[in-house]
Amino acid sequence: MNSFLDKIQTLVGPEGLLIEGNIEGSTQRATDGWGAQECLAPAIIRPANTAELSEVMKLCHESGQKVVTHGGCTNMTRGCAAGEDELVISLERMTTIEAIDTTNRTMIVQAGVPLQVVQENADANDLFFALDLGARGTATIGGNIATNAGGNQVIRYGMTREQVLGLEVVLADGRILSSMNQMLKNNAGYDLKHLFIGSEGTLGIITRAVLRLRPKMPVCTSALVATDQFSNMAKLLNHMEKSLGGKLSAFETMWQSYYAIACRTKPMSNHMSSHTSNDMGKPPLPDNHPLYILIEATGAHQESDSEQFLQALDTALSESLITDAVLAESGQQQQAMWAIRDNIPALMSYQPMVLFDISLPISEMESYLEEMQKNLSAISNNLFVGILGHLGDGNLHVAVQLNEDSTARKEAVEHAVYAPLQNRGGSISGEHGIGLEKKPYLHFSRNKTEIDVMRQLKQLFDPKRILNCDKVID
Ligand SMILES: Cc1cc2nc3c(=O)[nH]c(=O)nc-3n(C[C@H](O)[C@H](O)[C@H](O)COP(=O)(O)OP(=O)(O)OC[C@H]3O[C@@H](n4cnc5c(N)ncnc54)[C@H](O)[C@@H]3O)c2cc1C
Repeated sequence: MNSFLDKIQTLVGPEGLLIEGNIEGSTQRATDGWGAQECLAPAIIRPANTAELSEVMKLCHESGQKVVTHGGCTNMTRGCAAGEDELVISLERMTTIEAIDTTNRTMIVQAGVPLQVVQENADANDLFFALDLGARGTATIGGNIATNAGGNQVIRYGMTREQVLGLEVVLADGRILSSMNQMLKNNAGYDLKHLFIGSEGTLGIITRAVLRLRPKMPVCTSALVATDQFSNMAKLLNHMEKSLGGKLSAFETMWQSYYAIACRTKPMSNHMSSHTSNDMGKPPLPDNHPLYILIEATGAHQESDSEQFLQALDTALSESLITDAVLAESGQQQQAMWAIRDNIPALMSYQPMVLFDISLPISEMESYLEEMQKNLSAISNNLFVGILGHLGDGNLHVAVQLNEDSTARKEAVEHAVYAPLQNRGGSISGEHGIGLEKKPYLHFSRNKTEIDVMRQLKQLFDPKRILNCDKVID
């Protein structure tokens, strides 16, 4: 390994290579959003640009050296876990915003730029990048693209895939596939970028991207509301979408079990989220309602937007779709509401636990949750179950306490959650992806032909299986 690393060092220079022991703790980094998995790789390669990475991959390909790509390592699927025989490729030095074009509303970035930096730069140019998630301060745009991240605004703008116009990718053999399209429309043959979006680093390493920006909506109206039944929540979603005429930008749901713990727990002081508030203070609504929804609308006209929003809430109240509501009257109050929604790390106190990221048609959700809860009670009747999610996208995050640190318990809980998805057309992953964590259950959501074609694609792009080996599919 040492002579191989010497060759790498000549390609990337001393700053481009961290070897175990040469900088204290340098290779001992966490590899997922929980910070739980350690990196066992003996070295971290940190190329400064695409050309360097291309040379590194040529060398790795020649020698069959396996690599694992790291963005911000905020994934929830052990997607960045690296073994002792693997090397990490980290995009942490590729953090340049190369161009912002306000006429075409595009931004060209290197893949290591943190999501929040993309958002802030769009904002400074009176534009808007339509992806947002709790780990925005640490997650990178390359990682967002590799996972086709969802987040809080999918209901209005779609997933990451919808925000990407072009990509540059270094392939397993070191070739640079440049597909830096800048147009909304381009049907000249296959649109190759889509193969890499959501492929979790198994088909290529994303190095640069052309991002689609949107006009900035200066007015943002938010409210936290409570309701007593799931069916009312589903009706409320339709009501708000219709009443707000396309302005609904978030419809984030929290079940009481999650809301109560998120309000009570001070957010961990980490660098992930800009919504994190150190003082949770008094919750915006008392924590004894069965269901909570954070509703947000964005538009261009302060007075008429607020009026429309209030009118919609008023109707919802009078039709008993909601039982309580509080309107955010300042940016600070908006942040406080989002801090509760984003306080997923509060669930850490229930470790060992599993955080699921399922999706299914909204019409199936209530019966699904009943069946899931029944399955879980059959395992043990006092497991904590915290539920929150992006209801408008049919995507729920379900945190289940294991109460017992054993593989058998974890597998029993996974089956309890995944099995009822199968006959409801659900998916084991709405947005977090598969990584290592969900690989054994891929067949719950994808049929044999789909998995066969995935394997054929992997064989085509990475015949030596050196990229994120054994992640997503075997
Ligand atoms: C508090 C919190 C809230 C979250 N909320 C959401 C949410 O609402 N929606 C959501 O979708 N996710 C969410 N996540 C999960 C996570 O933030 C996303 O999956 C994010 O897109 C990962 O970005 P990253 O840079 O951290 O990628 P990493 O974790 O570094 O990597 C993720 C995967 O992509 C691969 N990869 C990384 N960079 C590249 C690259 N340049 N080229 C090729 N492959 C690459 C990695 O090998 C790995 O398989 C949340 C996480 C946390 C901790």
